[in-house]
Amino acid sequence: MTKRSYIVLTLILCSLPVLAQLNPQSKKVTERYFPDADSIEEITPALQKKRGFTNYDELINFITQLQVKHPKLISISYIGESQKGKKIPLVRLTNPDKTDKTRVWMQGGLHGNEPASTEGVLYLLYQLLSNPKYTYLLDTIDLAVVPMANIDGYEKQSRYAANGLDLNRDQTKIMAPETVALKQAFSNFNPEVGVDFHEYNAYRRDFAKMGRFGITTLYDIMFLYTGNLNVPENMRRFTNTVFVNNARKALDTNGLRYHDYMTTGDYMGDTEFNLGSIHARSSATSYALTNAVSTLIEVRGVNLGRTSFKRRIATTFIIGLSYLETAYHNQNEIKEEIAQAEKTQPKITVTSVRKEYKDTIQVIDLDTYETMALDVTIHDALQSSPKLVRSMPLAYIISADQEALIEKLHLLGITTETLSEPKELTVEVYQITAYDNKGELYEKMNRQTVETQLETKTMTFPAGTYFITTNQKNTPLLCEVLEPEAPNSFVNFGVLKTDLNNELPIYRLSK
Ligand SMILES: [Zn+2]
Repeated sequence: MTKRSYIVLTLILCSLPVLAQLNPQSKKVTERYFPDADSIEEITPALQKKRGFTNYDELINFITQLQVKHPKLISISYIGESQKGKKIPLVRLTNPDKTDKTRVWMQGGLHGNEPASTEGVLYLLYQLLSNPKYTYLLDTIDLAVVPMANIDGYEKQSRYAANGLDLNRDQTKIMAPETVALKQAFSNFNPEVGVDFHEYNAYRRDFAKMGRFGITTLYDIMFLYTGNLNVPENMRRFTNTVFVNNARKALDTNGLRYHDYMTTGDYMGDTEFNLGSIHARSSATSYALTNAVSTLIEVRGVNLGRTSFKRRIATTFIIGLSYLETAYHNQNEIKEEIAQAEKTQPKITVTSVRKEYKDTIQVIDLDTYETMALDVTIHDALQSSPKLVRSMPLAYIISADQEALIEKLHLLGITTETLSEPKELTVEVYQITAYDNKGELYEKMNRQTVETQLETKTMTFPAGTYFITTNQKNTPLLCEVLEPEAPNSFVNFGVLKTDLNNELPIYRLSK
């Protein structure tokens, strides 16, 4: 062998594992369970080329062309910049001749390696503007769409933002510039319905150990809607029984398979399944905590390249369209449910536990290529019960020197006031009675687990102290970030550093 062919061979061999990792799916699985859709027109940028996905210039060109053709119905603004300086577009669609709208927020590409999300959202924009079957939706809907939320990640087909952060773990600590832009735009728009489009990995490492030669998932799509108990019960029910249910029917009609969101987790060495989520660090729960109807959509697609790409785009489009149709036909109900949610002032569930039970799920056996029932243990966030509960204070009070926290609260759509003169108040003080700082970084943050005891004290707060009433729309989100033991709070993420026996600069005003 010549030296040159040796080098070539070495390069090929070295890249094989990478190639295998890029698309783990056999043709048999694709042909039998996920044949591509032929209903999708090749009108979006990635579908107009043989390989690769929509890049930033193609995205801007595509939405600009839509604006040229439909100047009355569409407007484009820029909500901020990616870390590499690319302006993040927000596309607004509505019929300006009509009033009384339902505000619907949609986003794709928050994880940069989930391309059917961006492509599906672009396809939806095109159809809403160009297809006379759908334009009526814009009469009662004000639609705001961020088609490519994580531009730097998307251009590299990487899950993460340029600084390595996962933007869907950043919704309470708000450390990435993209999150700042998205949170500000979301809060300004104040949606009544929010949908975040993603794709999921059907070949998780844990799946390789199941069955004889591993398994893969059967579902085209999984719905993630929150099990967080601080989201008023009526909103959780309304989301599931109206919006998700209509989307399930639309999927049935189109022969697509679905399940509630699940993922695997390690439970003392055993692989078990988590169903749903309660975590405010991710969009589905974060948006729901603003009393919006909120769902995260996971289409089966990560690492599959362009396999079944039209099917994945069709799935995204069908869900997007279904949510808009449901918003159109339930305009009054949405407003009534949100009004009812805002009137509820429940107790605060600071921590909760998931219901645990045995169940079976349908999977594809990679030995026989048949479907099979897999026995699993489920930790069900959709059936959570409260563990640590506190009363709702009238207000939270935060020391004047905590500007960084206040800035984050504003991004989360929470209004704050300041004391104009010193004031004596009887408040509850958090004393840290147990503290654990595991010393390992999560999303570049040094997380802290604490226990606290509330002590009642009368204190004089100087002028400039922040006063945050709980009589406001985003109160559930406020409690989730301020109660120190909550799993995604400012204290938990180390945004507000503390230590054993410390007193927090956050106080509760109860009377
Ligand atoms: Zn994702």
